[in-house]
Amino acid sequence: PLVLGIETSCDETGIGIVRGTALLSNTIASSMDEHARYGGVVPEIAARAHLDELVPAIHAAVAEAGIRLQDLDAIAVTCGPGLSGALMVGVGAAKALAVALDKPIYAVNHLVGHVGADLLHSNTDTSNTDTKPLEYPTIALLVSGGHTSLLLVRDLVSDVELLGETIDDAAGEAFDKVARLLSLPYPGGPQIDRVAASGNPKAIRFPRGLSQPKDMAAHRYDFSFSGLKTSVARFVEQRQDSGEPVPISDVAASFREAVVDILLTKALAACADYNVPRLLLGGGVIANARLRQVATERTDAAGVVLRIPPLSLCTDNGAMIAALGAQLIMAGHEASTLEFGADSTLPVGQIQVSGLAQS
Ligand code: ATP
Ligand code: MG
Ligand code: FE
Repeated sequence: PLVLGIETSCDETGIGIVRGTALLSNTIASSMDEHARYGGVVPEIAARAHLDELVPAIHAAVAEAGIRLQDLDAIAVTCGPGLSGALMVGVGAAKALAVALDKPIYAVNHLVGHVGADLLHSNTDTSNTDTKPLEYPTIALLVSGGHTSLLLVRDLVSDVELLGETIDDAAGEAFDKVARLLSLPYPGGPQIDRVAASGNPKAIRFPRGLSQPKDMAAHRYDFSFSGLKTSVARFVEQRQDSGEPVPISDVAASFREAVVDILLTKALAACADYNVPRLLLGGGVIANARLRQVATERTDAAGVVLRIPPLSLCTDNGAMIAALGAQLIMAGHEASTLEFGADSTLPVGQIQVSGLAQS
């Protein structure tokens, strides 16, 4: 089926068009720059930017795909989780489009969409990673500015289970906050990555959150980055108070090492516990050079197949939402009715929101 996907859960206005698992276009406009001086995504600014960007992005995506809107079989839209105001803009636009074109609409889960990105990657990837279609079950690690989630995906359209998530900051948020402590600009992830390249990752032993035996009992697959952030802050303060220079590269490298270590230790623990030899990565933090390197090393050592979609499909985008919508259609799922709304805390297990009033 020919599906147009709309993604507005955070700061990316994403419009994607797919035919089944074939990627036809993936237009992304980001309001990242507008958030820079606040050091993080400002919900109100993100929502307004979506209003400005949506219609041009739809036109661009349709032109690039070489289709007409009338040709579409369905519209898919992210209805959660994410920023309420931002989600509402996409949901409103999707409903308007569906009504105007008289097309079915599929209201889908953003996080499951990140997993769906892998379907497009199987078709388009030119790197040397595994390009066969993703097999199930798979463990998925999604790391971005808003999420750090570990999923067990038994079936993309019917069985996705949340194993664990962050109990405080998201991984990308931690990168952004630590970058700020080191007076590096927003977004912090790429900056830390750059500076860390010349640092010693073993210079400072920063804490690995929720990895002590007592934590592992209750939080085996959960993440925590606020203690790590505080530890970096304390280190920086101590150096400043004593008039010593802050070894920025070493701090960045040691911090990055701690984040990468905790993310992969937990993801591989899930692979082992559930006897699932497949790990899929998604989210903007996947751009991290060290994360990619250590993920490759550790999955190799553990006999786990690693999947990393290209970055344009890892960060928030509409194509992954369209891909999930197409899968729902092919699996025979009914469309959502227009009663659905944005749900900022939509649970991962809810892959599609039917729209029917809950009883
Ligand atoms: P959501 O959480 O809704 O998926 P988001 O907009 O917060 O969306 P993304 O756009 O997927 O997240 O990713 C942005 C985040 O990724 C930022 O926090 C940024 O610092 C981080 N990031 C980007 N590049 C890197 C990198 N090389 N290393 C670490 N973090 C990175
Ligand atoms: Mg973003
Ligand atoms: Fe996302």
